[in-house]
Amino acid sequence: MTSIPKSGYSYPNHAARILLLELENLVGKNGVSALLNSARLEAWITALPADDGERGVDFAEFSALLAALDDLYGPRGGRGLARRAGWAAFPQLVARMDALKPLSDLPTRPIPAAEKLHLALQALADAFNQASDQQCTVSEDGEAFAFRIQRCPACWGRKVDDGPACAAVAGLLDECVHWLFGGEPTRLEETECLAHGGSACSFRLPKPAA
Ligand SMILES: [Zn+2]
Repeated sequence: MTSIPKSGYSYPNHAARILLLELENLVGKNGVSALLNSARLEAWITALPADDGERGVDFAEFSALLAALDDLYGPRGGRGLARRAGWAAFPQLVARMDALKPLSDLPTRPIPAAEKLHLALQALADAFNQASDQQCTVSEDGEAFAFRIQRCPACWGRKVDDGPACAAVAGLLDECVHWLFGGEPTRLEETECLAHGGSACSFRLPKPAA
């Protein structure tokens, strides 16, 4: 049973709804009902969050859902499911979030690969900063970009001792890279996680070759 005190920070309804529907594709309706019971989010069993961009979901609710995945499937299984749901959610978010719509032709734009990835990550950061109370920044060094979340809905209020917990975000970023470049799955890592003693949730994405 996972209970996390309300944060006062909020996330858009459709982002939570999309994740729940993708989890339903993976574990079925009964599986999602069990998750929602465990997360004490029973109200969503009968009525999913609305299909709109209103900020109706508290970070603690989103985080409790992901914690319930770890509780019911084990950290490895739960985070595997969260990562896959994140992959599947990415194209829907591109279609739904206003700050991402101008990116729809990005994969085919004739610009260098690293610049494409930088544009996409910055747009994702801007989209979440605008649409939610999540706080994201993008930085880079010679070899990689870092996507950093200072206030994270995926692990809000959690403490974990078995590695970074924000697999749903990792999945979103995985699929962003795959959407841009196709090919092999990426090897991006969550290098720091607030729930695992970090100062932020930070994801390292190696720069693609030109
Ligand atoms: Zn996190």
